Amino acid sequence: MRRQRNTKIVATLGPSSSDYEMIRKLHEAGADVFRLNMSHGSHEEIRERHRIIREVERDTESAIGILADLQGPKLRVGVFANGSEELEEGASFRLDLDEAEGDATRVTLPHPEIFEVLEVGANLLVNDGKIRLRVTACGTDHADCEVIAGGTISNRKGVNVPDVVLPLAALSEKDRADLEFVCQLGVDWLALSFVQRPADVEEARRLADGRAAILSKIEKPAAVKAFEDILAVSDGIMVARGDLGVELPVQNVPPIQKQLVRLCRMAAKPVIVATQMLESMIESPMPTRAEVSDVAAAIYEGTDAVMLSAESAAGQYPVEAVSTMDAVAREVETDPNYREVIEASRRVERSTVADGIVAAAREIAETTDIKAICCFTDSGKTALLTSRERPRVPILGLTPQRGTARKLTLSWGVNCYISPELERFKQAVVNAARAARSHGFASEADQILVMAGVPFNVPGSTNILRVAPCEERLIFASDPE
Ligand code: PGA
Ligand code: MN
Repeated sequence: MRRQRNTKIVATLGPSSSDYEMIRKLHEAGADVFRLNMSHGSHEEIRERHRIIREVERDTESAIGILADLQGPKLRVGVFANGSEELEEGASFRLDLDEAEGDATRVTLPHPEIFEVLEVGANLLVNDGKIRLRVTACGTDHADCEVIAGGTISNRKGVNVPDVVLPLAALSEKDRADLEFVCQLGVDWLALSFVQRPADVEEARRLADGRAAILSKIEKPAAVKAFEDILAVSDGIMVARGDLGVELPVQNVPPIQKQLVRLCRMAAKPVIVATQMLESMIESPMPTRAEVSDVAAAIYEGTDAVMLSAESAAGQYPVEAVSTMDAVAREVETDPNYREVIEASRRVERSTVADGIVAAAREIAETTDIKAICCFTDSGKTALLTSRERPRVPILGLTPQRGTARKLTLSWGVNCYISPELERFKQAVVNAARAARSHGFASEADQILVMAGVPFNVPGSTNILRVAPCEERLIFASDPE
């Protein structure tokens, strides 16, 4: 199946999208990566969805990425005797370690480490920021707060504490168990929620031990501040606008999104713009104009991927939501203005042979009528570098590693196919031409670019760029060994 766009689509699975039929429809409509959200769903449900994705992958002969999203150290209040309470602006409310059920004056916040670092004046945001509490006095087992913005507080609502770096382990007990569970199932990407510092990412990488690539979700002010260091130790990034817009004033989110997308592209690491992209489509078959503009804006900024959350996981129109993203991406990408923006924003520091070769490939594709850039890649690195160039023609990422193909499903413009292990460059050209022809990128009369590192199986050795014919007879007639 050949996609008619370069921007990738991530669709979260959930109750609305858990059977074979639906998951296959979502993939055919355009979902390149499926997200398994570990905050919801039992291990049995996750295992079943994972199994179905792999079945769809087999039946459609494509590479599909699976991203498991760990819940992270999300703080939650305890429960209330009445299930919920109304907090009035100006009232006092206490958070403490008392395990008794809550009432209109207090509730448990079962995280002693938080009380250690809270200071008078700190803000606590409850229920996605709808309720705002400000600390007026605090001790090691409680915080007295003034209600700054009131509302309904109910059982186990989430609490955000934007003003302080929390002394929380990056991964809770649940996260560690979930991480091991999904790594044993076999996922391509692990997303880490509420990353605060580079050490959080390193911890997850140690536990994953090469079994999955690590994607950091940027949803805390501390992570925005330490972004370049976090990016350096991550394989990919998610601009997690939901919690980011709770922890920071909402108007700060768009400039941060632009900045993060730009830095990820410079680093040749995939970035996902996430949350509320087509929120109204949870209940409506048509998006709002503002939502369409938001998806388009992320694509104009050059993001690798756009993501659906509740729209595909729990909404009434999951397939329509994916189709909408697909249609918007296709439209934006054919706008001459898009090419102009993408080329003008290509800021790359080049220092290696591979950097030079991918730049040359892009230039040749701009100058002549080349139909595809085919790159043989083991680790995926050459394909990532090619993707960063944002060339005009499709990129074919050819790899003997299924895991590499699946990881690359997140990267802008990379069409991933499994290739046999190679020994000679001529075989690479033959295989590239076959892949380009059979997947509809080129015909016999066309020319393609082939990039590889010889000898094969030596990582980071990209050293050949060949303009090659697609017709097999010509390859054999013209190609060196
Ligand atoms: P979540 O992350 O959906 O897991 O909260 C995304 C976000 O916060 O935007
Ligand atoms: Mn979040």
